[in-house]
This record gives sequence, structure tokens and C-alpha cells, in this order.
Amino acid sequence: MISIVLNFFTAQALSGYTKCVMKSENKDILRALLTKQLEELISEAGKTVHGMSGAKEEHFPDPTDRASLETDRNFLLRVKDRERKLILKIQETLAKVDDEEYGICDFCGEEISLERLKVRPVATSCIACKTEEEENEKARPGL
Ligand SMILES: [Zn+2]
Repeated sequence: MISIVLNFFTAQALSGYTKCVMKSENKDILRALLTKQLEELISEAGKTVHGMSGAKEEHFPDPTDRASLETDRNFLLRVKDRERKLILKIQETLAKVDDEEYGICDFCGEEISLERLKVRPVATSCIACKTEEEENEKARPGL
């Protein structure tokens, strides 16, 4: 009986974690990537805000100061729409990296490959579904 239990655990260990649960080391990599992207985006957006206003000492949050970033809504309101959406998307993704659903395709429920997530950590669909979606968009007239 004991050996059966041991075999079960060995099999689990060899096959990695059960499906839908990403290894924590991979989550760490993706969390770091997301944080880096967020910091770059904030820094870029800060420059844009700075440039638009023309003011010399324009206040924008320190990219590493997450707390002020989250509370400084004024800042986000002045950031361009596209950038703001991406910032919010990354923050949202960072908040759910620890969830079991992270890295699972919204459309087919399959795991999104780590390679894809490394390139695009905010991805919510796998390559196959994304490709299909893009082809459908192309096929739609008037777009
Ligand atoms: Zn999919």
C-alpha cells in the first residue's frame, strides 16, 4: 500500500504539477517580467505626461513606488488611453498571477505556453485561439 502511494507521488513529481497549476518558479519569472513592463510603461507614460504639460518638475510616481502608483489616479487620468489600459491590465495580471486561472486560455481552457507568456505575460488566450481570433477579425468586413 505504501509503495502505491509513493509511486503516485513519484509520478506526480515526474509529470510536474497537476494541470492548471503553474510552477511557482515560473510565476516568479512572469511576475518579474510584469513588474519590469509596468515600470517601463510608467516611466514612458511619465515622460509623455511630462512632455504634454511642458512643466519642468512635473510630479509622477516613482516607478518603483507601487503604493503611490496605485493611489495616484490623477496620474493615470493624464496618461494616454492606450497606455492606461495596458498599465491597468498589467496591474490586474500581477494581482492574479498567483491564481490557478493565470496562464489558462480564456477560450479553450488549455494552458498558455510559457514561451508565449514570457513574451506577453498579460496574454489571456493561447496562440491557437489568438490566431483564430485574429483571422476572424481580418475576415470581418469593414475592419
Ligand atoms: Zn486557447
